[in-house]
Amino acid sequence: MNPLHDALLAPLSGRARPFLILPDGRTITGADFLARAARMAHALAAAGVAPGDRVAVQVAKSADALALYAGAVMAGAVFLPLNPGYTAAEVAYFLADAEPAVVVADPARAGDLAAAAAAARLLTLGAGGEGSLARLAAGQPATPAPAARAAGDLAALLYTSGTTGRSKGAMLTQANLLSNAEALAGLWRFTAADVLLHALPIFHTHGLFVATNVTLLAGGAMILLPGFDAAEILRLMPHASALMGVPTFYTRLLAQPGLDRAATAHMRLFVSGSAPLLPETHAAFAARTGHAILERYGMTETGMITSNPFAGARPPGSVGFPLPGVEVRVADPASGAPLAPGATGMVEVRGPNVFRGYWRMAGKTAESFRGDGFFITGDLGRMDAEGRLEIVGREKDLIISGGLNVYPKEVEEAIDRLPGILESAVVGVPHPDFGEAVVAFVVAAGGATADPAAVIAGLEGRLARFKQPKAVRVLAELPRNSMGKVQKAELRAGCRDLFAGA
Ligand code: AMP
Repeated sequence: MNPLHDALLAPLSGRARPFLILPDGRTITGADFLARAARMAHALAAAGVAPGDRVAVQVAKSADALALYAGAVMAGAVFLPLNPGYTAAEVAYFLADAEPAVVVADPARAGDLAAAAAAARLLTLGAGGEGSLARLAAGQPATPAPAARAAGDLAALLYTSGTTGRSKGAMLTQANLLSNAEALAGLWRFTAADVLLHALPIFHTHGLFVATNVTLLAGGAMILLPGFDAAEILRLMPHASALMGVPTFYTRLLAQPGLDRAATAHMRLFVSGSAPLLPETHAAFAARTGHAILERYGMTETGMITSNPFAGARPPGSVGFPLPGVEVRVADPASGAPLAPGATGMVEVRGPNVFRGYWRMAGKTAESFRGDGFFITGDLGRMDAEGRLEIVGREKDLIISGGLNVYPKEVEEAIDRLPGILESAVVGVPHPDFGEAVVAFVVAAGGATADPAAVIAGLEGRLARFKQPKAVRVLAELPRNSMGKVQKAELRAGCRDLFAGA
């Protein structure tokens, strides 16, 4: 038994219909994809991966990268995807913490990552199907030989940074991933007739698990795109039935003059998540296309938690109802006591989707769960009398820019290390394209002058692009309260409209 293999991959056997459709029109049938996955699984085993070993992967999005994920499932490995934007120093932390048996890098990055991956076997895989892993896989049998795995065994380790201290690896089991895919495929009525426009990254739960696992489970197909390009999505909509996106996708689609009822006539479902969808975006999209975007809410540690219904109202601003089998409550953040409908508090969740804990962080894990097994999400929300959830904001000051999480402290620390900088404070500011943009406030060290352009230039190569500030403002001192805490709300208020016309 290997529950994910048995439910998602085994049914591809002998399937002559496409599973993947590439932007140039080439297709990869279900059977072809299964064979690629099997070769990847055998290649991982040949490289020394045993069931339960971590396989860290920092590669460009491609059909082979997806086959590597499927191959890791088959090999019984724990898949650890990493954003290709992470620098070698950032990757080094994850590798030291997770101790993978194999690291798969883009051929162009192999030299850069060699030192960080010294304790592992380093293989390469390029977007064009080149690299040492691709060569190793080419010589392997195409017959699946899935490793035995139980429902409670780990299938993936996804890092989700904390606002304070170190990044945490969320341990996701086979049952976590499968139960979530089953709930979503049913709720969103995915079938073998579906063709999903896949423009999300595959290093994050949304593109990797929600999009891919749901499509696999339903027996559908995906148009696999390297990234999001609004004009390209518009061109492909007549060949597709569904799109899963972050709010930025929808604001960018709205900027396309061709977005109208006719252009979206073949589509049956538009899903949004990973960051709040502005009610204005929901309304504008409905007015132009006649489609009410279906917003859902989830996180790395839990997969999806709530969703608006397929049939019935999808009110803007609401993230909908708990998924089947998932319990959600809004509780007093301090005591954990459940609150009445309408009251704002901590969103807490319990169910088969909830992760097993943080990798090698027993203390953090214990702190994140209530005594009765509910996971404390860190999100604040309220529930109406019918059980619909609304996310009010994040308890901590997490910034979500273009659907990706940016932790202010990490950016502040990088800025503070720059010459001539005394200290800094980083906040998220509303941005029509990215949802939120990173803005840094900096204070120069005594006698020095701070140059905003130099701050941005100084972060190049130290932080992934999406974490770098879009604007830097120089202050004589940071606003603080009597307890010495920096007043971030004040900073945000002062630049709320900075990108209003961007
Ligand atoms: P991640 O772990 O990267 O998936 O980020 C999870 C966080 O994204 C959640 O804890 C929420 O703060 C936020 N999030 C995800 N979906 C939504 C949504 N539909 N509305 C508001 N926030 C969301």
